[in-house]
Amino acid sequence: MKVTVVQRAGIGLDIECLSPDATVQDLIDGLQWAADSADVVKEFRHWPRPSEGPCFGCTYCCRRFNIFLTIVDAKLLAAHHEVSLGEFLAYATTFEPWKVDRVRIADPQNYCLGERGCNIYAVRPLICRLYICTPYSPLLRQVIAEVNGRGNRALVDYREGHEDGANPFSGKTDYTQVLLREVLDAITWENLSTRHSLSTPSSTQSKE
Ligand code: SF4
Ligand code: SF4
Repeated sequence: MKVTVVQRAGIGLDIECLSPDATVQDLIDGLQWAADSADVVKEFRHWPRPSEGPCFGCTYCCRRFNIFLTIVDAKLLAAHHEVSLGEFLAYATTFEPWKVDRVRIADPQNYCLGERGCNIYAVRPLICRLYICTPYSPLLRQVIAEVNGRGNRALVDYREGHEDGANPFSGKTDYTQVLLREVLDAITWENLSTRHSLSTPSSTQSKE
């Protein structure tokens, strides 16, 4: 395991990165236990019946919040529905740059939810995987904000027809291809990697 997420008393979830080659998928995998654990406090959790399945049957996030997408999310969901990326973006998403500069699922309640909760849990977007309604350490919160933000940016760039090759999400089809050290701000990566004195192949990283 290249990323571990641990529960610290008085802080909440915290991150440890154990390899310079850790990817966004490693971050996702590191957080999954916390999403599945009844012992991790879920501050906004609603208690539907039956209380089982993904998020214990809770669908509050989908009913309450915007579900912003990364370029990789959009590709995975398009493949899931066996449509082209262009078709998926046209029929399932909204982009209103005059309000917020991100692409979101147009109608989450109708698109994502079924009788027993999330209909797309196996291919749910990155935002659903990274944001659990529980306290995070400042470092974990920063890592997640930067990862999600750059993934969102890559989809906006694609949608506007000027993909930025410098964005590490551009051209990627799954999260195993996206290295954390290439996504994160140099200072954030330093804060993360020096906790375990990781040696980083390249210390010069260009960030947005
Ligand atoms: S993260 Fe969202 S869906 Fe999951 S328990 Fe919290 S409020 Fe419910
Ligand atoms: S897409 Fe699924 S996992 Fe994400 S907020 Fe909606 S119901 Fe929850």
